[in-house]
Amino acid sequence: MSDIEAVLKTGEQTSESSGEAFELGEQTLQHGEKGLDRGKEALGARPPALEPDEREPAAGVGDPEEDEELDPEVRERRDRALAQVRKLGDPVLRAKALPVERFDAALAAEVQKMGVLMADALGIGLAATQIGVLHRVLVYRTDPEDPVVALVNPVLEWCSEETESAEEGCLSIPGARVDVERPARIAVRAQDVEGEWVRLSADGLEARVIQHELDHLEGVLILDRISREQRRQAMKAVRRALEEDA
Ligand SMILES: [Zn+2]
Repeated sequence: MSDIEAVLKTGEQTSESSGEAFELGEQTLQHGEKGLDRGKEALGARPPALEPDEREPAAGVGDPEEDEELDPEVRERRDRALAQVRKLGDPVLRAKALPVERFDAALAAEVQKMGVLMADALGIGLAATQIGVLHRVLVYRTDPEDPVVALVNPVLEWCSEETESAEEGCLSIPGARVDVERPARIAVRAQDVEGEWVRLSADGLEARVIQHELDHLEGVLILDRISREQRRQAMKAVRRALEEDA
């Protein structure tokens, strides 16, 4: 059984004509096929790349710390994964993703690929738009011991009035670490890779990651959720990181 599995069950199945987004997805998948095989192994047998003690509780979403002490192999794998993630300035990050209508092997492969990329990049969440696929798909895993959760066509159904502020990074915005205020608890409805509707409630880091990735599907980035002054500060670090990257 795949490690990428549904959180819950029940619901209705949707399976209809393919849209433009699907074709986009397919294209991306073809390029990524090679990585996929390795991916299956990575999600299954291989121990998680991220050791618990390497995780910072406040590290939040996405962007891994630039850590010179990372195992060279882990670092190389991370860098290869990050190279496949679209970065700030890429217009696709500002695009609104389209609903998934076909729940087929191509979608399963896309989700699988996203899970592997996320893990290799040492991120805890990834939205399809971040790899240039305009699909309403996100994956996350707040604990390396847990299976990757994939949400297809996720909808935020409810969020608490109570908010929390915590530091977030983003695989698409290297160098940025900003405090983002978000609702503390949420309820989400989504489909799994087979099209089954699921409902889930989340709080803490899980609620934060899901909201961060939901934002991506709307073309919204963490830089949009902070003050102008914070953004100015963050952009300095981002420009440095992007220059180093180039
Ligand atoms: Zn992000």
